[in-house]
Amino acid sequence: MTRVLSVASECVPMVKTGGLADVAGALPAALAGCGVEMRTLLPGYPAVQAAVAGGAIVADLGDLFGGPARVRRGTLGQQVLYVLDAPHLFDREGSIYLGPTGNDWPDNPERFAALSRAAAHIGAHGIEGWTPQVLHLHDWQAALAPVYLQDMGAAERVGTLLTIHNIAFQGLAPADRLDALRLPRSWYNPGGIEYYGQISALKAGLVGADKISTVSPTYASELMTPEFGLGLDGVLRDRQADLVGILNGIDVESWTPPYKTPRGKAAHTRALRADIGLPDSDGPLCVVISRLTQQKGLDLLLNVLPTLLDAGGQLALLGSGEARLESGFRDAAERHPGVAVRIGYDEALARQLIAGGDVILVPSRFEPCGLTQLYGLRYGTLPLVALTGGLADTVINASPAGLAAGVATGFQFTPVTANCLRGAIMRMCALWQSPKDWQKMVKNAMAHPVGWDQSARTYAALYESLKKVP
Ligand code: ADP
Repeated sequence: MTRVLSVASECVPMVKTGGLADVAGALPAALAGCGVEMRTLLPGYPAVQAAVAGGAIVADLGDLFGGPARVRRGTLGQQVLYVLDAPHLFDREGSIYLGPTGNDWPDNPERFAALSRAAAHIGAHGIEGWTPQVLHLHDWQAALAPVYLQDMGAAERVGTLLTIHNIAFQGLAPADRLDALRLPRSWYNPGGIEYYGQISALKAGLVGADKISTVSPTYASELMTPEFGLGLDGVLRDRQADLVGILNGIDVESWTPPYKTPRGKAAHTRALRADIGLPDSDGPLCVVISRLTQQKGLDLLLNVLPTLLDAGGQLALLGSGEARLESGFRDAAERHPGVAVRIGYDEALARQLIAGGDVILVPSRFEPCGLTQLYGLRYGTLPLVALTGGLADTVINASPAGLAAGVATGFQFTPVTANCLRGAIMRMCALWQSPKDWQKMVKNAMAHPVGWDQSARTYAALYESLKKVP
């Protein structure tokens, strides 16, 4: 058995803003069958505290950045959950990262330094007699842990893995917070946690962790280029030997289609059209479930929407984010009967869209792994995606070769421009005219493995290699 503490700032079902939460929630169960005992450490936001209400206090961390901090024990299904109970940092309503003005909480550096420090404390001292051999740290919010671990004199005993879910979030803090964050001055240099005159929590993990992973092999390669590395590509090139890409899976039990055949799917498509207010149609129903940000490339979709509609296609979009995209899609829905838009976050509708859609569109400029294309595969809702990151690694393009070999599961385009997206939409609409080929692709997609099995084994082997003590 390898004992691993997973440290994350969000986790389903309690708190989620993105794919990280799905991964943090899925890993412990996925790894249980691979000889890994994973426990999870989360910040004590109200929703997390509620989930472990009455759980015993199992560690006292004293004063942590301006108030008392303790670790509370809870359970989540079969899994042990540790919660950092520090009300001055986490007991607040609203977004977990953003204050009421829509900007980062001003004390985010302290909040997530506290999470990292609690992780290091558990690594160094154990908890309830349980001593993790590996800390699995997710994103910048947990990335200071290797620095604290070394400062506590425990880096020789405890292995560390940092997983990058999205390098766009780096956890920068002004350099004058160094002492307040209890970071050793010896780390503040260009080979350490300094980043253009600031403290970078993510960089601390990139230079300090024993190994680094990210959520797809293609994103791992992309991160070492200036275009995708967002200033940290040089650091990653230096650590190439310790960098791996491991694809995310999805929870295939929770995401099981309520049908086995294309005919079964058609009933869901009809119901979706009726529910969301789209007219009946013989054309393909395309769906989008996404944050509406520059990353996701949906401005390109707005651009080429007429091509889809002229070819008889329809669009149903669920998402929220940047105002210009929200209003762009709202306007499109008002102008075109073939477009339905819901602004907001709605898990039930997301599932209905995946089940009822014919195609799921993911035209991202970068996409570390992406989950919605995996849901699409599982449900026979063919992914039409940019050839980047995990989208490149999980979809088999309906190229002439892919079709001839009978293995295609979706449509890919590159580079990520409006013209190339338009081309892919036209190829998709042409293939729609050939139901036999389409149904073969639906079958291929539904048979494609999208669960955790393979990746869980890869993580288990990686943890094994990180063990420093038996
Ligand atoms: P990211 O983490 O970059 O947002 P992913 O595709 O990895 O992108 O994960 C997004 C997750 O959030 C998926 O599970 C997706 O279904 C879900 N999601 C995104 N937007 C919405 C929304 N508006 N309503 C419901 N679920 C959403």
